[in-house]
Amino acid sequence: MTKDSSTQHLVVIGAGASGYFCAVNAARLCPGLSVTILEKTGKTLSKVKVSGGGRCNVTHRALPIAAFTGNYPRGARLLKRTLHQFQASDTWNWFESRGVQLKTEADGRVFPCSNNSQSITDALEAEARKYGVHVQLHQTVMALKAPENSPQAGTGQPGRWEIQLMGQSDPLQADYICVAVGGLIKRDAYQFIANLGHEILPPVPSLFTFNLGRHSITGLMGVSVENAAVRIVGSKLKQTGPLLITHWGFSGPAVLKLSAWGAEWLAEKTYQFSILINWLGEQWPENKLREQWAEIRDQNAAHAMGDKNPFGLPKRLWSYLLKTAGIIESLYWSKLPAGPQNKLIQTLVADVYNINGKTTFKEEFVTCGGVDLAAVDPMHMQSRVHPGLYFTGEVLNVDGITGGFNFQHAWASGFAAASHIAQNYQQTTENQ
Ligand SMILES: Cc1cc2nc3c(=O)[nH]c(=O)nc-3n(C[C@H](O)[C@H](O)[C@H](O)COP(=O)(O)OP(=O)(O)OC[C@H]3O[C@@H](n4cnc5c(N)ncnc54)[C@H](O)[C@@H]3O)c2cc1C
Repeated sequence: MTKDSSTQHLVVIGAGASGYFCAVNAARLCPGLSVTILEKTGKTLSKVKVSGGGRCNVTHRALPIAAFTGNYPRGARLLKRTLHQFQASDTWNWFESRGVQLKTEADGRVFPCSNNSQSITDALEAEARKYGVHVQLHQTVMALKAPENSPQAGTGQPGRWEIQLMGQSDPLQADYICVAVGGLIKRDAYQFIANLGHEILPPVPSLFTFNLGRHSITGLMGVSVENAAVRIVGSKLKQTGPLLITHWGFSGPAVLKLSAWGAEWLAEKTYQFSILINWLGEQWPENKLREQWAEIRDQNAAHAMGDKNPFGLPKRLWSYLLKTAGIIESLYWSKLPAGPQNKLIQTLVADVYNINGKTTFKEEFVTCGGVDLAAVDPMHMQSRVHPGLYFTGEVLNVDGITGGFNFQHAWASGFAAASHIAQNYQQTTENQ
């Protein structure tokens, strides 16, 4: 990072998961490369520390790559390349071989056995110390200037990047830059990247819950359905899975997945839209329920409707749905008139709610948008505009659903960039 021309320097911008991982792996793979992380705040790895409710959901259960990438609304194509170099099993081995015992929970999320994110940050920090990574806090990068004589200019000796820091007149210099500044909600914060000729796709939040405003169903807060199907009216967006009623609206995996897959569309609609809930799940489409209704009614004929809920829905929800359909709980199944029966079928499989705004899920939002992938080599994370410039983690237009997929992208992209920097470093040092 100094003007010493015999040593090559990598500067990583951002001490989050992906920048840190790139730095420690590059330093390990290239003894002799000087590696510095510049971090604008006073802390490193802050999101890792608070992630997963302080437990750090470090990755997801290993799956075939095609199945794993199905969990990324944006960036699946890039992930296909990076995961071939560093997938969930590699994350597992990387941390376990550095003394962090991991465990997989029933839903596939991987955590340290300590249930404490400190185990993860300790391992990364020990690695940084072991390989001499310099970390400089309170350093905000304001601008980057590309080398005038890039390696492609055929000089044999690449030029150096200049890094302008806030409050400092003299720029720093580096041979390789890794931009790992995370998801930035304000578009202006990406300006120093846009100035290099990289397109920035508008950043919008992903992973949020749906607000209803004042609605009687919020009285059922805490009630959840194991396998509902939720569809956004006027779009092709549809997800299934657990659905949770909260005091402000709806949450749970079905809603979080919808918010991720629909992040851009929902932002365009300023989070005003309608959803259709099938409380019985996809296995009960309306036509099947109508076909089997007579049989269901006959089987339960001798019971009051409030007492006999043939679909296994939570009792409070069943009572609520009966009320919505205008059915009193003491009515016998055998006496159910055609009008309320029709309304109940509709309510069970196509219950409409108007959504009015969003709420961040446990603060664990990620950013959809950022550096356009078209100008980034998906194998090495290197810019197609400027050799020697790399992008890793959430600054890219890549995001996953909850479950450890976002950290897996951070590790995989950080590792892919580090490996390519190591290759370039070895080539240039051999040529000298
Ligand atoms: C509360 C919370 C919990 C989460 N929990 C999980 C989880 O359990 N599992 C999971 O997979 N994902 C989780 N995520 C998502 C995950 O944390 C992120 O996807 C991941 O941290 C992205 O890593 P990153 O290195 O790209 O960016 P970040 O971790 O955001 O790091 C970027 C760093 O760059 C610094 N920076 C920004 N601009 C500059 C600049 N100009 N100069 C210098 N430094 C700069 C920032 O201060 C920051 O430290 C969670 C997210 C949040 C917010």
